[in-house]
Amino acid sequence: MTAFPLPPVRGKLIENAPLAPYTWFRVGGPADALFLPADEEDLEAFLKALDPEVPVTVLGVGSNVIVRDGGIRGVVIRLMGRYWGDVDALDGARLSARTGALDLSVAKTAATNGIRGLEFLSGIPGSVGGATRTNAGCYGRELRDVLVSLHGFRRDGTQAAYRGPAHSGDLPEAHFSYRHTDLPEDLIVTRLILEGTGTDAPDKILSDIEQLQARRAETQPIKEKTSGSTFANPDPPGTPDQRSAWKLIDAAGCRGLKVGGAQVSPKHCNFLINTGDATAADLEALGELVRRRVLETQGVELRWEVRRIGQLASETA
Ligand SMILES: Cc1cc2nc3c(=O)[nH]c(=O)nc-3n(C[C@H](O)[C@H](O)[C@H](O)COP(=O)(O)OP(=O)(O)OC[C@H]3O[C@@H](n4cnc5c(N)ncnc54)[C@H](O)[C@@H]3O)c2cc1C
Repeated sequence: MTAFPLPPVRGKLIENAPLAPYTWFRVGGPADALFLPADEEDLEAFLKALDPEVPVTVLGVGSNVIVRDGGIRGVVIRLMGRYWGDVDALDGARLSARTGALDLSVAKTAATNGIRGLEFLSGIPGSVGGATRTNAGCYGRELRDVLVSLHGFRRDGTQAAYRGPAHSGDLPEAHFSYRHTDLPEDLIVTRLILEGTGTDAPDKILSDIEQLQARRAETQPIKEKTSGSTFANPDPPGTPDQRSAWKLIDAAGCRGLKVGGAQVSPKHCNFLINTGDATAADLEALGELVRRRVLETQGVELRWEVRRIGQLASETA
């Protein structure tokens, strides 16, 4: 039983829930409680009724996190299931998406409705909730480029809404930068309005998506237990002579480097992989070793892009 009372819900509430299966790395300890809300009203009522002292963490599909081996205290919320995956085409080149929807599903729904400009999302294996928090992007475009507005709830259950940087209106503006947003830390994003650049034949857009995916499969270890780019590039896209994290890691001699069951991917050396029996501690220690070697040999301090959350095993012993 959790050390704190859990309010009644219509969705699923699981105590002492393992989290490793919900992350791409497949590592990490349990959550005190895992809540899968049935819908927005269920989420709102739960947040309002939960003891304000209990920490709340939201997870998407876990493609950008290392959950530490001691797990996560308080309640972890996942917006998963049919309701949360809903994506609908609106007028013009707009779409609405609940934030449990996969980026790929949003890209494909846009394509089948003849909306151009969201193809880049097909290269990111997360949910659009995670994409919003991380300002995910690839092929020269980022989530902020297509965001009209976002809606969600603060930790206390109050509603909050923001507009995207390129749109006008009464809502406060959400500020984004390279793989970062200044949205309040406690905001759980539940819905987005997105806008493409125009319209085109669905077949053409779908074929572009297929090509982007094939290119990815060639250059990235997408079938491994990984979390994508481990470190942010030191310079944001568009910087002249941009330094990239993978080149620095390669130059520091870290390609293929191992700690326990964790390895720097031989295929793409800004990706760490769990070769089978890695712990979160192995992955984190390997990441720190890479940072040290890059600093010593290349003079650059890499910044973690993968989010490390929860407690170390030693903190829960
Ligand atoms: C093979 C591979 C390739 C990748 N390629 C790219 C790439 O090209 N570009 C790129 O940007 N990323 C890439 N990534 C990283 C990752 O897919 C993105 O960061 C993605 O947006 C994370 O989404 P997620 O649902 O997995 O979020 P999670 O990893 O579950 O969470 C990430 C963060 O988002 C927060 N979050 C999740 N949902 C919500 C929500 N509803 N409201 C508020 N906060 C939320 C979490 O609290 C956490 O802080 C890659 C990852 C892998 C494994």
